Amino acid sequence: MKSSARVVVIGGGVVGCSVLYHLSKNGWSDVMLIERTELTSGSSWHAAGGLFTITRPNTAAEIHRYTFQIYSELEKEFDQSCGFHFTGGINICRTQDEIDSNAMMQSACRRLGIESHFISLAEAKEKVPLLDTSHMVGALWEEEGGHVDPASATQAFAAAARKLGADIYRHTPVIETTQRADGSWDVVTENGTVHAEYLVNAAGLWGREVAALAGIELPLVPVEHHYLVTDTMPEIESLGYELPQINDNETGAYARQEGQGLLLGAYEKICTHWALDGTPLDFGHELLDEDLSRMDWNFEKAVELMPCLAEAGIKRIINGPMIFSPDLGPLIGPHPALQNYFCANGVMAGFNQGAGIGRVLAEWIIQGEPDIDIFCWDVARFGDWASKSYTEQTTRYFYENRSEKIFPYQEFDVGRPIHKPAVYDRLQEANAVFGSSFGHEHANWFAASKAQAKDSLTYRQPNWWQPVIDEGKRCRNELGLMEFSAMAKFEVSGPGAENWLNHLLANRMPKIGRMTLSPMLSARGRLAGDFSVSQIEPERFLLLGADYMQLAFMRHMNQFLPVDGVSFTNLSSTYGGLHLCGPNAQALITRLAKHDMDSSSFPFMSAAEMTIGDIGKVQVLRVSFTGETGYEMYLPMTSQLALFDLLRAEGANLGLGLVGTRCLMQTRLEKSFPAWALELSSDYTAVEAELDRFVKTDKGDFIGRDAFLNAPAPREKFATFTVDAGDCVVWGDEAIFLDSKPVGYVTSGGFGPTCEQHIALGYVNCDAYRPGGQYAVEVLGQLVAAELQTEPLYDPTGAKMRA
Ligand SMILES: Cc1cc2nc3c(=O)[nH]c(=O)nc-3n(C[C@H](O)[C@H](O)[C@H](O)COP(=O)(O)OP(=O)(O)OC[C@H]3O[C@@H](n4cnc5c(N)ncnc54)[C@H](O)[C@@H]3O)c2cc1C
Repeated sequence: MKSSARVVVIGGGVVGCSVLYHLSKNGWSDVMLIERTELTSGSSWHAAGGLFTITRPNTAAEIHRYTFQIYSELEKEFDQSCGFHFTGGINICRTQDEIDSNAMMQSACRRLGIESHFISLAEAKEKVPLLDTSHMVGALWEEEGGHVDPASATQAFAAAARKLGADIYRHTPVIETTQRADGSWDVVTENGTVHAEYLVNAAGLWGREVAALAGIELPLVPVEHHYLVTDTMPEIESLGYELPQINDNETGAYARQEGQGLLLGAYEKICTHWALDGTPLDFGHELLDEDLSRMDWNFEKAVELMPCLAEAGIKRIINGPMIFSPDLGPLIGPHPALQNYFCANGVMAGFNQGAGIGRVLAEWIIQGEPDIDIFCWDVARFGDWASKSYTEQTTRYFYENRSEKIFPYQEFDVGRPIHKPAVYDRLQEANAVFGSSFGHEHANWFAASKAQAKDSLTYRQPNWWQPVIDEGKRCRNELGLMEFSAMAKFEVSGPGAENWLNHLLANRMPKIGRMTLSPMLSARGRLAGDFSVSQIEPERFLLLGADYMQLAFMRHMNQFLPVDGVSFTNLSSTYGGLHLCGPNAQALITRLAKHDMDSSSFPFMSAAEMTIGDIGKVQVLRVSFTGETGYEMYLPMTSQLALFDLLRAEGANLGLGLVGTRCLMQTRLEKSFPAWALELSSDYTAVEAELDRFVKTDKGDFIGRDAFLNAPAPREKFATFTVDAGDCVVWGDEAIFLDSKPVGYVTSGGFGPTCEQHIALGYVNCDAYRPGGQYAVEVLGQLVAAELQTEPLYDPTGAKMRA
């Protein structure tokens, strides 16, 4: 066994083998995979191998599509059979909601050029003669669907990696991983120790155990999963062609042809966790005791759809474990607490996603960042709040409700609340409907009564539509008060703080008492973050950004620490926030602050620590995301309630009302203000996102400067549209058409409380940015007229927020 390698991948399931293949394919051949027993000794050997590409979010679709395409590559270029069947796939729609859901996915996938289209029930029956279409109202056909043989596909990645120079050691359990002072790793196995620059945990069912060797805990838990294979069915035998992959999402079931029979798998209505306290070390090519009664409901529904199943004999039943994270999505990327430690864990659908995950991890290791924004699966999206109990509750919930649709803006109650702001009870008394972000509760909107304080779930206009518009009008005309703790809040202080921030961020740092907006660029010039930065007092800065990104931001920033004279503290959980917005905000703050709040003394983009009423040390920023006069206030969470009560009491005669974050997100549409994760992410450059005015290349060197200066011409342009969506809603991800051709996509949508129009923000190809052009947005399968707006719909000069 070699004693060193640039990268050691632990685990020879489909994911580990794919990571190894992609590292070697990208030119890193000094890489090694270490497998406990034989390759595929976890979930991989018994998977159903089903493949589909139409999914959301878009990043997942990109990963699925890439994975789908790799099997032909492995078969052609490396002569490795993957048992690949390219059959196409059919999504069964039993209800109008499912049609809406599929229409949204179809539209979203246009961005990637993934082909799908609705077919008639007669066409569905033609493609799958087994169907009783009387239970269906429609079907979506996806071109790229099929299945692979799981063992062959895994072995194909391994063989191709070997051909490219990688090493694979089988029957070599890893028993220790120890980090050296320089960040490299000693990987101790039963057959010797390997020194590696980077380590990848791809230990599948044993992801938790391998993580524990490095002293970290991953929020993962295995669950049992069944599928069955029927005997030969005459209805299939007589077909003369292979059936497509059949997805019946509303019953949590999937099916495909296996030999001359059918393979039917299901997310059972009862989720059964397995090995809660740890995956047994001697488990391998075994199955779990079968209990088909758990599949009763799914099977009944499958027979409804394919009646001939009722007569089919069952040849084989598989009950195998797979391992899930709290939202069932993979946990990938550099672990925020460890240097040079990459996770490739919790992969729910390794045969649909494994190649894409391998590609992304190889890019991350080799280039320092992936080519696409993968935050939706980033291991950094969960913090310590994702406890063992939370993971058990959420995996159970999402598994058992797999057949339920996920609606736009849907919040899930499971595992909540975790962290409540100090004013939680006050918000609840006011009929707040809460959302959760990075374990923190915040008010999304306020209902008129307790009975109405719950989101209705629909793809059309929900019950909160009008209340949120009314909250927006309150912000525009009087005064809104918003609980505002759900922000990533960092304090950077010390004599070296300004220099360090100037190196880290693209804008020039603000003077004392001022704030600025600054993108954070990656070394390759893509957006790595977007902050407001305030110099509250000499050598003390407050950075604010998207709360759920806090670990990802810290992971990026920690690469450039420690530095003498710089202290970096995450205040996100200990500090609370409140936000005043509206034309009466200045009158209220002037009344209460022990500070000169006159616009000439404390103008737009001012920042200071002050006393409000008798509450000291409140960091007040004069800033606006709604487009109105706005003050954000940050203070220790222990003082939030006192400040809230004071503002509410004193603001009553200024028209103060409570407003939620959905109103913030809608009012900012009228200003064309981009938001992180929607318009802004590592998918974009500062130029594409129109943040280049905040990039100061003349201030000296900073991370991403060279890449920014040498960037190729932008591919896409940020754009604002008004849309004739009528009584529907533009939610985000819809395709944008120009002259009947898809040219872009919506990143977020909503309704402007002042302009009283549907608004869509998004991106269009640069050559398709044409004021006056014949645009349309695809809303639930229909093209509706849209108009490109070249300036913000509300207060385009910004006079109001500066007043
Ligand atoms: C019944 C069932 C049906 C499924 N159907 C599908 C499907 O249709 N489509 C799809 O895409 N996915 C499907 N899946 C999911 C798929 O099987 C998994 O997503 C995939 O196998 C995960 O692969 P992995 O490489 O992450 O983990 P694993 O397959 O668990 O591999 C991990 C490997 O790491 C090794 N290892 C662990 N600890 C150590 C150590 N200390 N030292 C060295 N090696 C170690 C193990 O021996 C093992 O070989 C199904 C799963 C089940 C259970």
